[in-house]
Amino acid sequence: MRRKGTLFVICGPSGVGKGTVCKELLKNISGIDLSISATTREIRKGEVEGVNYYFIDKDKFEEMIENDEFLEYAQVYDNFYGTPKKYVIEQLNIGKDVILEIDPQGAMQIKEKFKEGIFIFLLPPSMKELKNRIIGRGRDSEDNIKKRLKCAYEEIDFIKEYDYYIINDDLLKAVNNLASIIKAERCRVKED
Ligand code: 5GP
Repeated sequence: MRRKGTLFVICGPSGVGKGTVCKELLKNISGIDLSISATTREIRKGEVEGVNYYFIDKDKFEEMIENDEFLEYAQVYDNFYGTPKKYVIEQLNIGKDVILEIDPQGAMQIKEKFKEGIFIFLLPPSMKELKNRIIGRGRDSEDNIKKRLKCAYEEIDFIKEYDYYIINDDLLKAVNNLASIIKAERCRVKED
């Protein structure tokens, strides 16, 4: 009998480096795919449709909700983000692991549906460093930086909901730790 794939969910505060860690991970490990989310936010310079996100308008997003096409969806700051269901289910069914890089609201929805999913929280080395990274991206107003930091404190308060944490103080180390978690889970015997 073919083993089903495992769903890995990577979460963490805005600016912690989830996207970079996931991108590097895919270069280092096989048998796992990153799910591409749909979003209503504007495309940023350097992003590619269908690679970073499926960029859709609010009407299309609502239509996808109506048609039950999302595994989860959430409003993150001013925009909507959702994980298209079809691709994830197909991959898991053919035995491929899938990684979701989503916000904590989405992660908790996934936890309800996929009790066997593996939930990983990415932490910054310190809140000061997180603030520096958010400022360094140059995308946020002072008000938004405050909002993101407040949100980060709230999210970190819920770390007990996750199976693992990784501190992103060094990219290579964080990627190696994530790969180790995935490899360990692939050898799991005991089911909870
Ligand atoms: P950004 O706009 O910077 O790419 O992403 C903003 C936030 O939305 C990040 O925390 C990211 O993890 C989250 N996000 C991206 N895709 C999804 C998704 O499909 N569902 C949920 N719930 N959050 C997502």
